Amino acid sequence: MSHELRTPLHVILGYSELIAEREFGPLTDEQSETLERIRRNALELHELITSVLDLSRIEAGRLPVDVKEVQVPALLEELKAETQEAYRRSKLHFGWEGEAGLAPIRTDPEKLKVVLRNLIGNAVKFTPQGSITVKASPKKGGVEVSVTDTGIGIPPQALVVIFEPFRQVDSLATRQYGGAGLGLHIVKRLLELLGGTVAVESEVGRGSTFRIWIPSDRRVQPRYM
Ligand code: ADP
Repeated sequence: MSHELRTPLHVILGYSELIAEREFGPLTDEQSETLERIRRNALELHELITSVLDLSRIEAGRLPVDVKEVQVPALLEELKAETQEAYRRSKLHFGWEGEAGLAPIRTDPEKLKVVLRNLIGNAVKFTPQGSITVKASPKKGGVEVSVTDTGIGIPPQALVVIFEPFRQVDSLATRQYGGAGLGLHIVKRLLELLGGTVAVESEVGRGSTFRIWIPSDRRVQPRYM
């Protein structure tokens, strides 16, 4: 299924890129703007398909949990390196605070990375200016990682629904920001798989902090999903 959904999009993206690079001849400004709109929308559709497929795998219980020893500060370093280019483009200030002395934990590093990529991606998306801080510290038999931004914030009545699938605070604002409203639901479901939790505090106009907690040893659990 995944292949059938993604391949046509890769073809659209690939050819748009070739045309944009003037491989087939010169372009007018209007043509190149139109092409850029096609490319942006195709990328958004790609993101949506990836989220829907991830979610369907979680729902079907077909997402095996691969537990390993994980050094959280090293994992944060990896995320930092991976996303440096996007940060540079965003002109935001980034702070990474991983306590060097943090004991290793046993969890699924790939799922933890998906969770943090989602939270950091949202922080970037909803923060027009200011800073984003990612911090890891030991907490109650596990590790807490917080992602704090100085962005638009979330109104109190929305805090309870943003973890539900396809829910966004304001469809008008979100149309401007893009996204399908699946990211935080996936975060919540993946954390359930890891035996962890997610919480949020936010103030409109001041920013938000998403905190995840992961147990230091994710014991093998029955497949309840
Ligand atoms: P998406 O980002 O694709 O819309 P998510 O499930 O990741 O979907 O987030 C749901 C909604 O929660 C977003 O549309 C946005 O309204 C709100 N939100 C999430 N993270 C933040 C944040 N860091 N700052 C402000 N609003 C946020």
